[in-house]
Amino acid sequence: MTFENDLKSIIRTIPDYPKPGIMFRDITTLLGDARAFRRAVDELVQPFAGQKIDAVAGMEARGFILGGAVAHQLSAGFIPIRKKGKLPHTTVSVAYSLEYGLDEMEMHSDAVKPGEKVLLIDDLIATGGTATGAIKLLRQMQADVVAACFVIDLPELGGAAKIRALDVPVRALVAFD
Ligand code: 5GP
Repeated sequence: MTFENDLKSIIRTIPDYPKPGIMFRDITTLLGDARAFRRAVDELVQPFAGQKIDAVAGMEARGFILGGAVAHQLSAGFIPIRKKGKLPHTTVSVAYSLEYGLDEMEMHSDAVKPGEKVLLIDDLIATGGTATGAIKLLRQMQADVVAACFVIDLPELGGAAKIRALDVPVRALVAFD
């Protein structure tokens, strides 16, 4: 079996979650499998091994799990990007689009210095609203967003194309229709 099919088969699909018509891709089955988890993290890290990455930014909440592991492998720092009101120190914030309406995400204003090279990690890209918000936030602080990497892309929703249009390279390990 190819690596992509192997990884796809270990991601659980929950129909009609969180609401009717949505096929939720559940990565807890991947995280719970030691071999698959290591392989996924290794694959996310591989293009950047040996490059200078100052920090990995991860989006709440699954981006923390993968991003933390990737940061450790790259000997980089980790920047949590969180929903409004969760971070204790001074923050910068940005509005981002959800399927219905807007929300706000935040980062500590001293989390990144101008010119630092930051890799963005999340479990999945769908419409790209979350990743677009995170890139705006990092760029507000003059970070250099090197790439955005995901375990799963849902290409039909167009998120990866939106991120590439912002001049940020996108990589995903698997795609689901
Ligand atoms: P977007 O903003 O690109 O439309 O949605 C991506 C965000 O929603 C990510 O932070 C991701 O964790 C979450 N998300 C949306 N759909 C799914 C899904 O089917 N499975 C998982 N694991 N996360 C999802």
